[in-house]
Amino acid sequence: MKLLVANWKMNLGIKESLSLASHISRKIKNNKNKKFILLPTLHTLATLIKQKSLNEVLFGAQDCSQFDIGAYTGEVSADMIKEMGCKYVLLGHSERRKNNHENNKVLRKKLTLVNNASIKTIFCVGEELIAYNNKNSKETIRKQLSNVFPEEFDFKKLVIAYEPVWAIGKNKTPKMHEIESISNFIKKLFSKKYAVSNIPILYGGSVNTNNSKDIFFLKNIDGALVGGASLKASEFIKIYDTLN
Ligand code: PEP
Repeated sequence: MKLLVANWKMNLGIKESLSLASHISRKIKNNKNKKFILLPTLHTLATLIKQKSLNEVLFGAQDCSQFDIGAYTGEVSADMIKEMGCKYVLLGHSERRKNNHENNKVLRKKLTLVNNASIKTIFCVGEELIAYNNKNSKETIRKQLSNVFPEEFDFKKLVIAYEPVWAIGKNKTPKMHEIESISNFIKKLFSKKYAVSNIPILYGGSVNTNNSKDIFFLKNIDGALVGGASLKASEFIKIYDTLN
């Protein structure tokens, strides 16, 4: 199964989100071999999910709270996200790791609640430029994937997104053999550490219509997480067309 995920971040209002989702869903469809998932802002999700014409679209949230219920002003829980109709939650995006100081301890709490809510997680890992330059990418990722999954975690509901932080929104990507080497490393880690075979891995970081074909050609890559290029219907549709 191949996946293409659109991370719209905090870019679109309700009107723009509706128009983009409608345009995309008129042109591309999910099938048993490949699916696309849209991650709009929380404030637009309620409207989008209710649209009859978007019935077939899979939606997810860009984050969820580390708390389950109670006096946590401004937070939205994993259960509430499920209640909205989301099938997926993105966790561990580098922007949240950096801007909201999300470490393994916080992410473990979120993973626990998402697991309890029985929704799927797209979990981001990836190294900063300094680690890449010092050839510490694998060590960084190994740490990001250690002591973060709760016991009883259902790994069947997990997708990993490898996103080198220095490639996000920069029109730069690692070399293809580097992406392949990291994804191979992640697949092996899951198999050895968690007895999970063939964990799905998406690549994220400046995916566009010029490079998606080469990225999807890689043996260990099962799709992509797309930021900037997912905000233009025509680009996202073309990228989906190259996914096979
Ligand atoms: C992202 O932030 O998840 C991302 C992949 O962004 P971009 O495609 O713009 O690099």
